[in-house]
Amino acid sequence: MRFLVDLHTHTIACQHAYSTIKEYIEAADDQGIAMFATTDHGPDLEDGCHRWHFGNLRSLPHIIDKIALLRGAECNIRADGSVDLPDYFLKRLDIVLAGFHESLPPTTEAEHTQILLKLIASGRVDVLTHLGNPTYPIDYRAVLTCAKEHNVAIELNGSSGINTRHGSHPNCVTIAKLAHELGNVIALGSDAHSCYRLGDFREIESVLEEAGIGYENIINTSPTKVLDFLESRGHQPIESLRSFFTPF
Ligand SMILES: [Zn+2]
Ligand SMILES: [Zn+2]
Repeated sequence: MRFLVDLHTHTIACQHAYSTIKEYIEAADDQGIAMFATTDHGPDLEDGCHRWHFGNLRSLPHIIDKIALLRGAECNIRADGSVDLPDYFLKRLDIVLAGFHESLPPTTEAEHTQILLKLIASGRVDVLTHLGNPTYPIDYRAVLTCAKEHNVAIELNGSSGINTRHGSHPNCVTIAKLAHELGNVIALGSDAHSCYRLGDFREIESVLEEAGIGYENIINTSPTKVLDFLESRGHQPIESLRSFFTPF
């Protein structure tokens, strides 16, 4: 089965990414991606976006050339279990991802785990990104159990172990198996930093195969599943996308 949705991409709004929204739209058409989320880095990262970037994402249409666009962010997790965008901005987004990045110096497994438990319980974040990063070890069972309880999705990341976060692969297999066992919602993101990687799920496919699990809990198999998940998280329905993906 093809994955029709990519929930994690970066644009030239961050200097270490290299494509525009328009280029991603063209790539989506080429790749058979029906929907993608634009999720640039939050302000705590050295070349992250200013908070106004996220406040003004509403200037982008939800449908461009028959491709659906979700307006999102990949926030940086802070030591106190918060993220680097105020609630006012988070509430304006269709999807909020968050992950550990260079803005937070790593400490201990126990501390990283506590930070995530606090973040999950805060309700601010829809998807936790690249949890398999060996730089930030965590207690997978504690984090995934809490995420299940609070309906927060666990990401499988298409770039981890490929051009960044080396050593992630075995951790991602462990996470995939555990997410399957616990029944977590799983969200796939290419984490593309150029349009040429949009919808590139090859690393994720290999993780899924190694973990020996199917696609049951993966929301990327249909745009409607993604919209259902986001509404179940308390986001307002996006009427234009609902009607776009509802067959007459
Ligand atoms: Zn990230
Ligand atoms: Zn990213």
